[in-house]
Amino acid sequence: MNSEIELDKIIEIISNTDKIGIFAHVDPDGDAVGSILALYMSLKQLKKDVEVICDEYSDVFKFIPYIEETKKESTKKYNLCIALDCADKKRLYDPKNAFDKAPITISIDHHASNTFFAMNNYIEENSPAVCKTLVKVLKRLNVNITKEIGEALMTGIITDSGGFRYDTVDDETFEFAAQMLDVGVNISKIYQTTFDIQTKAQFKLTSIATSRLEFVNNGKIAITYITKEDMKKTEAKTGDHEGIVNVGRKVEGVSVSIFLREDEEGYRVSLRSNDETDVAEIAKTFDGGGHSKAAGCTINEPLEIAIKKLIKETVKNLWMDY
Ligand code: 5GP
Ligand code: MN
Repeated sequence: MNSEIELDKIIEIISNTDKIGIFAHVDPDGDAVGSILALYMSLKQLKKDVEVICDEYSDVFKFIPYIEETKKESTKKYNLCIALDCADKKRLYDPKNAFDKAPITISIDHHASNTFFAMNNYIEENSPAVCKTLVKVLKRLNVNITKEIGEALMTGIITDSGGFRYDTVDDETFEFAAQMLDVGVNISKIYQTTFDIQTKAQFKLTSIATSRLEFVNNGKIAITYITKEDMKKTEAKTGDHEGIVNVGRKVEGVSVSIFLREDEEGYRVSLRSNDETDVAEIAKTFDGGGHSKAAGCTINEPLEIAIKKLIKETVKNLWMDY
């Protein structure tokens, strides 16, 4: 699916079009914020009229250049809309429905569960981050990847690859990181800001979730949750739940770690796999999606029922290493 022809086509479209809107998924993570800002800066460098639309983001990402220029909703009609890091149209943050109204749309993504919702889809399933996929696009557009663009791209690459840990990280990823060091990107600082430092609320929420962590199915599944009440009590802000799913994942013998977070729509679920168990398959049964090792969904049920259903579905999908 990831054909060079598709890449040629999107390069031609972007080169020949002006008035562009850039979008990402709701509840944006480092890859979403990093990729939209990298593309925004790049299209500005190419002298395009461009706007970037972004859902409320964590303060952690405030260091990324131009983040203050993101808009909560679009202010005009676009001739081209580009979605980044978004597998599914339902997850696109686009309060004014600009994407559907645009005459041309492009989706650039790296989710295996991508639904090909745009008119043109460039999807690299095995890429560690859409920011890494975007590098190919920017190089083909002859963008000069400056320090500022590099900071945005490295934010996505570092956060989505678990700090270069996941098996999607390939030689090109390290080669690109090396190039970014050469242009002056402070990789160790980005790593520290996005990974090592927690907000106080994040620390408190993690403690609550850790104390509730349960192991089921002979310790193969770790599961925990936080409620809206916990968020209120700890004065948590957007993004303060990030990383909690990794607490269970780090425990010996755990195949799948599950984390539920209550929000307005029900329970947002994060799933992580440590082995060949494909958590995207589990998420899909609840109308969600993602990657084989990191996926998510929303379940609108009381907590106990949501947990029961998740455990049942996970047990069915557990990878058996006989
Ligand atoms: P997280 O647990 O960090 O929210 O999400 C893990 C991965 O699953 C991310 O790549 C994210 O885009 C994807 N994901 C999370 N929730 C959903 C969902 O409801 N639908 C789909 N299609 N993907 C999701
Ligand atoms: Mn991503």
